[in-house]
Amino acid sequence: MTCHEIRMSLTAYVDGELDLDELEEVELHLKECDSCQQLVHELEETTALVFAQLNSVVAPLNIENRVMERIADLHQEHQVHHLFIVYLVCGFLGICGIVALLISPVGAFVRAMFHLFLAVLNGLSFIPSSLGSWWILGTFLSTLLVVGISVFGVSRLLRSLKSEVVL
Ligand SMILES: [Zn+2]
Repeated sequence: MTCHEIRMSLTAYVDGELDLDELEEVELHLKECDSCQQLVHELEETTALVFAQLNSVVAPLNIENRVMERIADLHQEHQVHHLFIVYLVCGFLGICGIVALLISPVGAFVRAMFHLFLAVLNGLSFIPSSLGSWWILGTFLSTLLVVGISVFGVSRLLRSLKSEVVL
């Protein structure tokens, strides 16, 4: 075999991947050829260096946890993105609903109620500030009085109806 033919299978020879016939041929050639022997020597050194480098590489501490955390983060980011789209669509549908409500005949009623609400707010703001917060207490107490009278009246009415039924 020529040097060129032998060199094609030298890597396999160094890695121990040759079958018996090929191995015999290569070894026979190597006994007689110094340059191929030199090449085998260099190949063996390079392989040893590569293995030494590979063995010196140590996985960073906690790499598994960090990878899992990163995956969880990515999953969360994806979910947040998904939720954002859902909220966006819901918001758009809500705005469409409000616009449709305002345009439709029901919208006139909604608008009227809104104006009434604004008018009440306006009226409240016209109460003189010299009264301070006493007017709130006054309003609250008079509301309580009205509610109390109503409840009292209703309960009396119910009682009288009951007694009429009994009689
Ligand atoms: Zn040779």
